[in-house]
Amino acid sequence: MTTDLSFPTRAYLNGRWHPTPRTFPVLSPYSGEVLAEVSDCGEEEARLAADAAVAAFREWKKLTGFERGRILRRWNDLLVAHQEELGRLTALEMGKPITEAKGEVLYAASFVEWCAEEAPRVNGELIHSRFPHKRPMALYEPVGPVYAVTPWNFPTSMITRKAAPALAVGCSVIVKPAEQTPLCALYLAKLWEEAGGPPGTLQVLPASDPVPVSKVLMEDMRIRKITFTGSTPVGKILYRQAADTLKRISLELGGNAPFIVFEDADLEKAVEFTLLSKYRNTGQTCVTTNRIYVHRRLEADYAQALAEAVAGLRVGDPLEPSTQIGPLVDKQGLDKVVAHVEDALAKGAKVATGGRSLGGLLYAPTVLTGIRPGMRILEEETFGPVAPIMPFEDEEQVIAWANDTDYGLAAYIWTKDLSRAFRVAEALEYGIVGVNDPVPSAMGANLPFGGYKNSGLGREGGRWGLEEFLETKLVSFALP
Ligand code: NAD
Repeated sequence: MTTDLSFPTRAYLNGRWHPTPRTFPVLSPYSGEVLAEVSDCGEEEARLAADAAVAAFREWKKLTGFERGRILRRWNDLLVAHQEELGRLTALEMGKPITEAKGEVLYAASFVEWCAEEAPRVNGELIHSRFPHKRPMALYEPVGPVYAVTPWNFPTSMITRKAAPALAVGCSVIVKPAEQTPLCALYLAKLWEEAGGPPGTLQVLPASDPVPVSKVLMEDMRIRKITFTGSTPVGKILYRQAADTLKRISLELGGNAPFIVFEDADLEKAVEFTLLSKYRNTGQTCVTTNRIYVHRRLEADYAQALAEAVAGLRVGDPLEPSTQIGPLVDKQGLDKVVAHVEDALAKGAKVATGGRSLGGLLYAPTVLTGIRPGMRILEEETFGPVAPIMPFEDEEQVIAWANDTDYGLAAYIWTKDLSRAFRVAEALEYGIVGVNDPVPSAMGANLPFGGYKNSGLGREGGRWGLEEFLETKLVSFALP
């Protein structure tokens, strides 16, 4: 091991750091070095975790929302206090530039903080009856032990966005983090332990192969909810598996976000905000701009200004505070970016800047022009630092293009015309629309986050995120 991590890298199971017969390496996508060996969990650990989650749930749900809120509050404080360490771990294990990585830790903490405050406010409702002697009420109860499967691209916040609301309302949670980023997940568990989180309430099972752990937990009738963030194909596998035990399910999946620049847009701002929307996290966000439609009158000026700005982005070591573009997370991620650019160039696109690998897993931030329908880059999630620009003629045409996809997570529009802003925002078949706003969900622990169509089911964040972990019970009192 070359990095001093100074915390256990074993599975966190029932409040203990649990050794497993096998381990697997966590690699830095920037240097390729082995950062750590972590526990490799399988069916056996999944069964133990399920038993512990069921036992912990019985006690945890009995606490008052005030008591659970206090533990969550301490977890939040510890997360904020360890921003530096968690930011560094994020930069090391998935290559996010350190400045952004530290920002993500605060975003992750914001879910814990919001849910800590909300925990005592999950009230029931007294409902009017048609019969004068009856007093029906709706009680909200935790759904039960939860299985959470999370991605590598936001290795802390995608865990807290699920675990914080679940824990706040009284569920226990088993997290299976992405194989690329188990270290951040284990660090979150360490802080949960320090915050006084009881054994079995939050468990972390790293695994080099997600299938054995998943199989056990998906087949277990006692696990009452699966919450997943990741790719659409895996989300669909889990959706099918959830049917057998009729688990509640939330899915936050992939996207294909359009970014529409109308002829009246503020060009300078649109370019500046493209950088945020497209190149943040090296283009590896689910809400990242995947395709840019610019009104024909602005296209040339926009493309030139964007190419100049993008050429100035600093690429390199994610641990350097000045770095803006880090490596892709793995070879598969890089290969997809290369394939999308090659496909576009073969079909007539032009490189305005970038368009090449820079060694290792680094890819030059890229702007492509001359984009036409039929190119893969318009149809699939590229998940890399490549901006394809395509001109459009009118509003009706661009709305049709924007909606012509199976995805529906985020969309962005740029205009100064208020009527158009409303008209287009309402016409877009997306769960999130930014109007002159490149990061509509920024620090949005209280906002609904989720997609239409193949981008998912359910919402995270705010009261919507809490409701995903609640059952509704009718209790009716008949007065004598
Ligand atoms: P992925 O689907 O490959 O992996 C996500 C998680 O699923 C990992 O923990 C992985 O181990 C697990 N997994 C993979 N196969 C599985 C199986 N057969 N059974 C059970 N678990 C399995 O996705 P990824 O590459 O880690 O993440 C990138 C994707 O996530 C992108 O499509 C991105 O858009 C999406 N994403 C969506 C959101 C959102 O909020 N909508 C947020 C972040 C990322």
